[in-house]
Amino acid sequence: MNENISFYKFMHKQILIVIILIVGTAPGYIVMGLLYGSLAVESVWFAYVLLVSLYGYKLYRDYDHTMTIEAKDIWMTKVRYFMFAYFSLWSIMFVVYVLRDNYEMHYIAIATQLGSTVVAATILASQKKLVIATVTTLMLPLTIYLVAVGETYSYILAFFTVVLTGVLLYAAKNTHDYLIKSKYQAYHDHLTTLGNRRYFLEILESSVKQYKDEFTYLLMIDLDYFKTINDTLGHDVGDELLIEVSKRMKSLSDEYNNKVARLGGDEFCVLSAAFVDKEECLLSAEVFAELLLKSIKENYILDGNHLYISASVGVSLIDSKDIQAGEFLKEADMAMYEAKNSGRDGIIMFNEELYTLVQEKLEIERLLHFAVSKNEMSLVYQPQVNLDQKVIGCEVLVRWQSEELGAVRPDVFIAIAENTGCIIDLGEFILEEALKTVQEWSRNSLPLEQVSINISMRQLLHHDFIKTVDRLFAKYNVSECNIAIIFEITESSAADDLTSLVKIINNLKRYNISFSMDDFGTGYSSLSYLREIPIEELKIDQSFISQLDDIQQASLVKAIIEISKNFELTIVAEGVEEEYQREFLADLDCDLFQGYLFSKPLKKDDFEQFCMQ
Ligand code: C2E
Ligand code: MG
Ligand code: MG
Repeated sequence: MNENISFYKFMHKQILIVIILIVGTAPGYIVMGLLYGSLAVESVWFAYVLLVSLYGYKLYRDYDHTMTIEAKDIWMTKVRYFMFAYFSLWSIMFVVYVLRDNYEMHYIAIATQLGSTVVAATILASQKKLVIATVTTLMLPLTIYLVAVGETYSYILAFFTVVLTGVLLYAAKNTHDYLIKSKYQAYHDHLTTLGNRRYFLEILESSVKQYKDEFTYLLMIDLDYFKTINDTLGHDVGDELLIEVSKRMKSLSDEYNNKVARLGGDEFCVLSAAFVDKEECLLSAEVFAELLLKSIKENYILDGNHLYISASVGVSLIDSKDIQAGEFLKEADMAMYEAKNSGRDGIIMFNEELYTLVQEKLEIERLLHFAVSKNEMSLVYQPQVNLDQKVIGCEVLVRWQSEELGAVRPDVFIAIAENTGCIIDLGEFILEEALKTVQEWSRNSLPLEQVSINISMRQLLHHDFIKTVDRLFAKYNVSECNIAIIFEITESSAADDLTSLVKIINNLKRYNISFSMDDFGTGYSSLSYLREIPIEELKIDQSFISQLDDIQQASLVKAIIEISKNFELTIVAEGVEEEYQREFLADLDCDLFQGYLFSKPLKKDDFEQFCMQ
């Protein structure tokens, strides 16, 4: 980072101070001129001082904190020349006065020269070279003068001036170092030594302004499941991992002339150099992001632990100077969240469609909070039939009729509710409504064997879930009902904690709840889960059923059923729409069927009627 990046503002203030000091004291020479009858030189000199002051004031006005870093650099160079010239004006008067015969004038010249040196050393301390040049330019004439006097006392005084120069420069250096250090701390992350959020926002802001017909890319990187590492292996290992990840990012970024910063926590940002060609920029963004992800994912050995971590990366392209830097950051952020939502460990490029998608999601997220209290959520029941085509149960499915959005599909809002944590309250509402219905049906002796309720993994793993089940089962007297309760679960991510899952399931079995593996064959569910998770039922996903005319899919379904039989699981086929599908599955000894062939999900009253038929 340019070490001067933060000194612009500092120097900006100094300009005004110097002008006030010099314009305030320079008239002293006019008074001298009046006293000693040599007003001509002093007047010309004072006119110069005023002219240079005006130039300085112009520089002061020119500064605008929103300028690009390049523009600020140019401005700073001008300021340095101005300062040097401004202080050097005093040396001119010094030379003029010491050449006169009047010793009083010599004293005045020496005093002013010393004074301006001290002022220069203090005010210009942030600029190393400038302070050396100015202080020596001011002190050298004084030393030469004292030597030229040629007396013992003057030699001693000359020696003193040299010492004073050294002391002033040393003090200026200390101030400079201190400024550098405090500015460094303000712009760097102390753990990883990368630039911090403030630094990144400044360089981003500056580059957005600077590019006219050029392109840059912005990467937002968030480590996946970093919190888990912190929680399980401790913060020391977490810190070490962050340092190691930063090193890898920095070295790759340096290779590509990119700038990397840590925005906080496990979030990083990369800003590329400029490209003239848009396609080239896009291509480079892709290549760089891939390489970065690959390098992050390489094995880490920390404290004897072999660690692995992936990241979700969002990319946005900076191609318009009219948009605020913050917008690009937001875009990259949206893309990063989308990468998280689509299963993490991936790269997503921001585009307009993504923008619309994210806006829609945000709107759903907002409205979802009030949906239950506004009575917009309701339940429907989809019949499940056995081999004799008799209705023996149903699956409870939630419906949302939003006042603002109309009917929202459950696969859309359930995913959002899971991500935002809304699913805890929503899931409780669904469970309560479902159990209320089960109690009613049981009292009315509706001929049903089982009712299946979808339970999200996040809901199931929530620390309060067992308590909620306990309370609701007691409230609706479920243990007295003659209808069995099944919880349908979907293995939604490979990272779900299997051990706690099994523990919770076994715990819930005390309430005679059975478990069903939903959407089997998609996503993360695998055959090994059948052995590890204590389930009683398996639902073959509708994507398999809809492709039964494909020989390979058909044999896959056959294999799933055969294996499930070995595990003594009840098999439910979801999404049965055609008679040939039912026949095929029936031949394989599939136990239960659910799908439009029998009925769509029905409202409570309609389902009761359907059951009685
Ligand atoms: P799911 O649990 O696999 O539910 C089955 C989905 O298949 C339902 O979609 C159902 O309406 C649909 N379906 C049933 N038969 C057929 C058919 O023959 N053809 C076709 N094409 N589709 C059929 P729905 O109601 O839109 O729900 C979608 C997903 O949303 C559910 O998949 C489930 O994962 C989730 N969901 C729905 N209700 C709840 C709920 O109460 N709680 C939780 N946690 N998730 C729910
Ligand atoms: Mg289901
Ligand atoms: Mg399903």
